[in-house]
Amino acid sequence: MAKTTKTIGVVVNHHLSTGLVVDLKVQGELFIYPPPAEDDDTGLVEIHTEGLIRTISDQVILAATGPKGLDKEIATVGVALPGIIRHGVVEDSANLPQLKGARIAELLTAELRSRGLNPFVHIVNDADGMAAGLAATIGKLDSFIRVWTLGTGVGYGRYPFAEGVWEGGHHVVTLDDKENYCGCGGRGHIEGIMGHRAMRLRFLDMEPEEVFATARSAAHGPDTQRCRDFVRLWHKALAAGISSQIHMGGPGKFLITGFNAKYVDLAMLKDYIHQMIKMSPLQGYTLEIVEDKPETRILGSAVAAEAAAHAR
Ligand SMILES: [Zn+2]
Repeated sequence: MAKTTKTIGVVVNHHLSTGLVVDLKVQGELFIYPPPAEDDDTGLVEIHTEGLIRTISDQVILAATGPKGLDKEIATVGVALPGIIRHGVVEDSANLPQLKGARIAELLTAELRSRGLNPFVHIVNDADGMAAGLAATIGKLDSFIRVWTLGTGVGYGRYPFAEGVWEGGHHVVTLDDKENYCGCGGRGHIEGIMGHRAMRLRFLDMEPEEVFATARSAAHGPDTQRCRDFVRLWHKALAAGISSQIHMGGPGKFLITGFNAKYVDLAMLKDYIHQMIKMSPLQGYTLEIVEDKPETRILGSAVAAEAAAHAR
């Protein structure tokens, strides 16, 4: 029988979620920071690198401590972060800009060592981590999946991992000069249309929830029309992103998740993709909306870290 592998998976987004993963299964309690009761709605957006390293270490130690004390058999720690991650360094992050240039893997390794744990630390892009978590959850670590995460920003992840940048959320999907709401500052990007923050910037007088509700309502008037036009644009943006991926990487399975996946109208999305993809060999694609669970993301961080540890 294969040796048991114990890994701590960590996910950094609005919150910090941490859990122990044993043989590809999340075990025991999940640690969420800040705890829901203390959540002041700024979450981790303001936290600086040193504070983040300390907070991640606190959570890892909590997850690594069992009834017999600190479990020294934990060989790997995987941390999922939004942004462009290379060799343990955050090269850029539209959603946690203060981390730009931070050598997270190195700093976290040193901090954990000072607390008695000596694991291999791996940093993964959060959307790639989500793709790995979904692949492991559906038991398909051997198949190719691509995942869109619709949240504060828009993430694009793929599993198996491949060398490259893969910032699919920043695909250019419009040449309209006025489309400049993306968190990265770039013009015409998917995230500038579909990202939660971008939607709040566009509709200063309405929350995204109200925009989608107004678009669905039977009322007539300029607000309803404006919201309906936007909902169509929102779906066209995702259709354009998926179509670009199909034209580059071929058809296959696309999953859509994140807290704003609830707004996706699959029929409308498929209709737009159908208009964008006409070549017959590219028609075999499937789309599915899947729930965004912290367990899946934690599992994905662990899967990514174990794969990186094997590849060393
Ligand atoms: Zn962008």
